Amino acid sequence: MENARIERAKASPTCRCGGKTVYFRAYNGESLCSKCFNDSIFEKTKKAISKYDMLHYGDRVGVAVSGGKDSTSLLYVLSEITKGHGTKLYALTVDEGIDGYREEAVKNAERLAKKLSIPMLVSSYKELFGFTLDEALQERSEKAIKTSSCAVCGPLRRRSIDRTAEKLGVNVVATAHNLDDVLQTFYINLYSGDLERIKWLDPSFKSGAANEEFKLRRIKPMIEIYEQELAFFAYLNNLTFQSESCPYMNEGIRTEIRLHLNELERKHPGIKYSTLKTALGIASSVVLDPDRSKKIMRCESCGAVSTGPICSVCQTLKVVS
Ligand code: SF4
Ligand code: ZN
Repeated sequence: MENARIERAKASPTCRCGGKTVYFRAYNGESLCSKCFNDSIFEKTKKAISKYDMLHYGDRVGVAVSGGKDSTSLLYVLSEITKGHGTKLYALTVDEGIDGYREEAVKNAERLAKKLSIPMLVSSYKELFGFTLDEALQERSEKAIKTSSCAVCGPLRRRSIDRTAEKLGVNVVATAHNLDDVLQTFYINLYSGDLERIKWLDPSFKSGAANEEFKLRRIKPMIEIYEQELAFFAYLNNLTFQSESCPYMNEGIRTEIRLHLNELERKHPGIKYSTLKTALGIASSVVLDPDRSKKIMRCESCGAVSTGPICSVCQTLKVVS
């Protein structure tokens, strides 16, 4: 509370353009009016796209849209900044089957896609795997298996998006992972000693069996934007999004890391940004076994491209079905 008062005291009532300040960016001391704040989000996205060579002329981009603030903002920003660039956008939405939660988010995503004239395809776990996430997690609890909800859900979500991407013939999948998401993932992998997954955080890392096979690039255009700025961007642009969190989200270590990083940022504005730089530096310097990173492996169970003998989806299916 005390800190928040000090922050407000540091903000200037006017933006550098003379407009009324609506946002104080504590990590660099900028006071921004709504137009300059909005422009900065577009600019940060464009900068990341160009810095990491994310998009090329003529790309068909599937934007993973869950209906939350981040993905809703991503769809909106990409629709604006790709105008006239020969890029075709599609909205890819996954209905995991979370009763009382996902329905509203899917409706919001559909509304926005329609407004922006972006074709949208919704896939569901029920139709792809034969069960909803609720049913899968119930099964997990009955078997007293300790795998976290997100560890069950994540691989299924990626497979759903890949299938939809293939169906639509898109060659790029854009996800709305923001600076906070990437940092949290870095710490999760750091604590579990998973160097390969740390390598995957490197935006310039273009290898990976799935990428080779389907020519599918995965990009995170909002990697350098703070989560709280995306929330403010969505609010400022009247984007309707699902504000409730997933009922399963607090089970993993991610929440503990999120709270810890938020506390550090509150005391030391900018620490998340500098840690991101360190994290990406470490990711880019990780060298994977060249044989392993080049070889295309197939899952022995389902035949999908995989980084091991059994893909993560089949491993998950064993746990929950
Ligand atoms: Fe799935 Fe976890 Fe996201 Fe919920 S929070 S939708 S369980 S990945
Ligand atoms: Zn498999």
